[in-house]
This record gives sequence, structure tokens and C-alpha cells, in this order.
Amino acid sequence: MRKVIVQKFGGTSVADTDKIKNVARTVVKEKEKGNDVVVVVSAMGHTTDYLVKMAKEISPAPSGRELDMLLSTGEGVSIALLAMAIQSLGYEAVSFNAMQVGILTENVHSKARIVKIETDKLKKNLNEGKIIVIAGFQGVTSDGEITTLGRGGSDTSAVALAAALNAERCDIYTDVEGVYTTDPRVVPNASKLKEVSYEEMLELAHAGANVLHPRSVETAKLNHVPLRVRSSFKTDDLGTLIVGVNNMEIDKPVTGVAADLSQARIVVCDVPDIPGQAAKIFSKLAHENISVDMIIQSYARKVSNTNDIAFTIEAADTDKALETLNQIKTSINCGDILVNSEIAKVSIIGAGMIDRPGIASAMFETLAKLGINIKMISTSEIKISCLVDKADAEKAVRALHEEFGLSANTIADVKGDLPNL
Ligand code: ASP
Ligand code: MG
Repeated sequence: MRKVIVQKFGGTSVADTDKIKNVARTVVKEKEKGNDVVVVVSAMGHTTDYLVKMAKEISPAPSGRELDMLLSTGEGVSIALLAMAIQSLGYEAVSFNAMQVGILTENVHSKARIVKIETDKLKKNLNEGKIIVIAGFQGVTSDGEITTLGRGGSDTSAVALAAALNAERCDIYTDVEGVYTTDPRVVPNASKLKEVSYEEMLELAHAGANVLHPRSVETAKLNHVPLRVRSSFKTDDLGTLIVGVNNMEIDKPVTGVAADLSQARIVVCDVPDIPGQAAKIFSKLAHENISVDMIIQSYARKVSNTNDIAFTIEAADTDKALETLNQIKTSINCGDILVNSEIAKVSIIGAGMIDRPGIASAMFETLAKLGINIKMISTSEIKISCLVDKADAEKAVRALHEEFGLSANTIADVKGDLPNL
């Protein structure tokens, strides 16, 4: 049986026709190895940003349906051009959009989840020896409505296709050479990780490392899809392999540091301390499809018998969240609702921090030494996040990267060579 390899190329990798020709060569190389190849592509360059900008010029709050109709067109251009480029190299190729394949999603606009992928047509075309090029980021509901998976969602399209086709591997080709200990633009001596666990990658992605769409990692973990992040411009480099944590040798408490600058904090002040208040606030937000990240409720002092409830959301959801909270303000009988978008969530992540005390205190001390005020703290088994002023974020990332010994010259290469998947 031939192996199926799914390859995904992001916007920068298909930014112009020369780059598309370059991608075609990488695709053909994989086909030449005797594998079946399915390619997923994003829209060219900054196309999606440009489409969003035009929509906003027409209406500050365009309808979800029409926005998805518009945004899904970007990927339509790149699939056709890439299929042509592959054909010019003398190989058979066919492009499909999500509707043609049957990439079925929930009936939600702008951040739909994939629920099922039809594989008959794909298998038939692969059996005929064709290279298949599929539009990422888009889906279709059971009623035939076009949806999109959220910005950066092509990664998730690729992993979901890899899972559905039982692929040997999913290669995410991008403009960076792999997953780094932190953003190399902020810390020039950040090191490239040879491997990272799904769990750590998931936390890194949620914490603001913009390498992969978080849901793609979730899907890969759930379906045990080996995932590799690698450069489309240096294709000999194996990049970073993302695998189950059990397959890893853990030598450091912290694997990576990330900053998420796209959050906003909302504080609902003076919420009467009676049962059901948090339920009211967060169920209403959930109903509006607004994801909440960090949550803190203050201790209710006897005098006032009220709490402040603070939480963070995607800054892009701020207007919608305020509108939603104002609708229930009377029923929860709270005080002011405050917003601050000048904040950043700085996180340290590592499977090695489990059962190792002192990691949180080392993080707090590092921030304290710099005079950085911590506004909120949240933790998971393998992550500690602190909310700080946006202006302090880069400084914090640099100091934490240093504190936990992640710089290129301090990482010992103990893992040896990875299997050439
Ligand atoms: N084109 C979409 C975006 O820019 C999807 C993607 O690139 O993954 O968000
Ligand atoms: Mg992307």
C-alpha cells in the first residue's frame, strides 16, 4: 500500500507565482518517493487580511455568512494556480474546494469546527495517481453553506485531512524553520526544538506562539497524526517533529516561552456574592461563541459581600462581549464593567515542570526583578501564564527565556538524531 502524505503550505509559501512554482517542485519530490500526496494551501500572501479590510470598509460588522463567502475565495485562487504549476511539471493534479470534497463543519460562521470529511472522492483520485490540491481554511455545512475555520485554520484542514486519510504524516511547510523556544524576532538566540509534545505545542499555540493553529494540534493529538513543522524554503531541513509526550526524553522543566498580545481583559466589578452569577456571565458569553481564557474571581469581603470577576478574551471579541454583558448587567446587579486591551499574556510551557516545585516562583521572581507587575496568574499542569502590561511583554519574554536556559548556546543536544519520518 502506498503511503499518504499531507503537505500544507501557508500564505507566505504561495505568496507569488514563483513561490507557487517552488511549492510545486516540493510536492512533486514527495510524489517521486512513491507516496500519494494531498496538498492543502492557504490564500496567497496577505490576501485574507486584504479581504477582511475590504469587508470592514463596507460594514463595521459584516454578517458572518457573507464574510465567510468572501474569505473563502482566497484559497480558491491558490489551489487552482498550484494545480496548474504541478501539471506544468508533467504530473497529474486536481484542485478541490471544501464543498467539492465534503469537508463538513458545524453550522457556525468564522470559527467552525470540522465534523467529518468525505474520503471517497479523494481516494478515487489518489488511486488514479493524481496529486490532490485542497483549499484550506474552508468548510461546508450539511445545508451547503460555506464556513471558515478561523484565522490560520488551514493547518487544521491539513491535519483533519491527514487523520481522515490515515496519512503517514502531515508536513506543515511555513516561513519559519520549525518551532522555537520563543519567537526569534524577540529573542534572536532562541533555539529550534527538534521535537515537542502535542501537549506542549497545544499550550504554546494557545499562549500566542503563532506557528500552528491550536485546533490543528488538538486534532493531531486526538488522532495520533505525526506532525512536522518545516521550512518551505529549506526543504532539506527536517524542522520540528510534534509527537506524543511518552516518546520524549524530558531534560528541562521549561520548553518554551510565549506571549499573546491579542487578548483583552474585562473586569465585572461588584458582583453580589450569591450562587449562579458566574454561570450567568459565562454561559451568556459562551452562547455568543466568545472564548474566555484566564478567569479570576476576587475573594468576597464581608463588608461589601461582592466579588470582582476578571477574565480575558480575544481582543477582537471585545465589542461583542461588552454588548453581551450590558444585556445582563441589570439581572446580575453588578457595578462597572472595565476593559483593558493594553495587556499581554506571557507564558512558560514545559512537560518537565510536572512535579518540579519552584518553577512558578522562579517565573515571578524574574518578573519582579524587572519591576513588572503581574495582573493575573493562571496555571495548568504544564503551563504558567501571567498577565502583564503589553509594554512589558518583550522584556518579560527575554528574561524568562534566559532564566530557564533556553538560548541556543545553552541547550544541550541530548536527543540525537530524529528518525527521518
Ligand atoms: N487564509 C487564512 C488566514 O489567513 C487561513 C490560513 O492561512 O490558514 O487566516
Ligand atoms: Mg498560518
